[in-house]
Amino acid sequence: MKEVLNSLGLSPSNPGGFSGAWIGSGKVQTVVSPIHGEALATVTNVTPQEFETVLAKCHQAFASWKLVPAPKRGEVVKEIGDELRRNKEALAQLVTLEMGKTLREGRGEVQEMIDICDLAVGLSRQLYGLTMPSERRMHRLQEQWHPLGVVGVITAFNFPVAVWSWNTAIALVCGDTVLWKPSSKAPLTAIACTRIAEKALRKFGFDPAICSLVIGKGSEIGDLINTDPRVALVSYTGSVPGGRHVGGLVQARFGRHILELGGNNAVIVSEKGDLDIALRSIYFGAIGTSGQRCTSTRRVIVREAIFETFKNRLLGLYRKTPIGDPREDKYLMGPLVDAAAVDTMLAAIDTVKAQGGKILCGGERLPHPGGCYVTPCIVEVPGNLPIVKEETFAPVLYLMPYKTIEEAIALQNGVPQGLSSAIITNDLGECELFLSAAGSDCGIANVNTGTSGAEIGGAFGGEKETGGGRESGSDAWKAYMRRQTSAINFSGQVELAQGITLDI
Ligand code: NAD
Repeated sequence: MKEVLNSLGLSPSNPGGFSGAWIGSGKVQTVVSPIHGEALATVTNVTPQEFETVLAKCHQAFASWKLVPAPKRGEVVKEIGDELRRNKEALAQLVTLEMGKTLREGRGEVQEMIDICDLAVGLSRQLYGLTMPSERRMHRLQEQWHPLGVVGVITAFNFPVAVWSWNTAIALVCGDTVLWKPSSKAPLTAIACTRIAEKALRKFGFDPAICSLVIGKGSEIGDLINTDPRVALVSYTGSVPGGRHVGGLVQARFGRHILELGGNNAVIVSEKGDLDIALRSIYFGAIGTSGQRCTSTRRVIVREAIFETFKNRLLGLYRKTPIGDPREDKYLMGPLVDAAAVDTMLAAIDTVKAQGGKILCGGERLPHPGGCYVTPCIVEVPGNLPIVKEETFAPVLYLMPYKTIEEAIALQNGVPQGLSSAIITNDLGECELFLSAAGSDCGIANVNTGTSGAEIGGAFGGEKETGGGRESGSDAWKAYMRRQTSAINFSGQVELAQGITLDI
């Protein structure tokens, strides 16, 4: 453990603020691992005054960073990607230690960071604007994209480093500076990443405040980000209630926001699908990261005719789930992030029982000194009961039957969230219906693969209460830039649009 911390530049006690220099004199927080309850290190949070220093420097750094040619900015992102390659194993181990996902998933998370850096390097030469034919003679109409400003990146505990990189790699090539407020449940990985970015920026002679960091309470430091007009864009990843609060404050000052909020993801299993593919995709989707992914599979909607067969085979898998220390390869499921998450899961199970759900397996706290381990739970329900419509951020899977594909799609869409969805079928008609305007209402709709495990090449995000934001690949970069439309007149005369004449 010590070795991992040392190799990433972490000490037994660490300041939680950075904007070219490391600062922090607020509350001292002890970071405890959910694997065994042992203290990893301490982090000193920033005070509101220190927040002001960090933001001022990050804002000031924007003035010069926006003028650096985008492909040169891309070189810095390439260096960050290379540093991540060099530190992949150590960073993956720290992710696992700090929030408890399995090491193989930790490695996947760091790989995702490397991948988004590669994507952003290419993007740094492709921040295209369009030209449009002008309706006026000898005029040219065009649009171009300019850097936006400081991007406040507020992240959740469950992807403690990948979400920062999705935002940061893109924001940096777009010419923005980044002010990161990580989850207080995962501050050490944030310090490690900021050190990596600092090293890359210094290597190229740039102001390291371009990648700044503030660790502190959401209700205090987070609200300072939400309300400060120097933060041009707030990219918030977290729960629906959190997003409602953040979105309201940012909107009130006409700032921009990207909201990446909770999901309630379903897989439809048709009798025309491959049952082995369904079982593997659903099993990983539901127990991966101990059910603590925004894209975790939470509901399975199964064709009545195969309901019993599917249920029994899934139960067989669930009952032998290897649960234990996530650093060991033999375990597929590690702990939940903390004791409060275990309590929330058990409370949801009590509620679903009271609402008519039938517990088929799991849902128990496992005795473990200092660790937060549970058994994954399957609940049979007749449909979207009230508790089923909520996101319980834990390995609780609701199983419900359907008669017709239209009914299945209605059940899939019948929740307030709209992040990820999937259908398992080899029937072309069902597949196309699911992907059509009459089909899934989610930001992600997959066929013959599960709801979790999105690739960085596509734009990531969801609809309805998931917040509507998009980040990562495709054209998500446009949210990090300012669009400017220009008409250029080279006619030597004044000609007004829409044929309006001016007789003077
Ligand atoms: P959370 O809402 O408890 O916290 C998220 C972040 O918000 C943390 O950094 C927290 O400190 C901060 N915060 C709290 N109050 C704030 C305030 N007033 N202003 C600004 N920031 C504030 O979420 P969590 O428990 O860390 O993560 C789990 C949730 O995140 C789930 O709902 C999950 O679905 C969602 N999530 C969504 C995505 C996505 O891309 N859609 C990805 C990962 C997680």
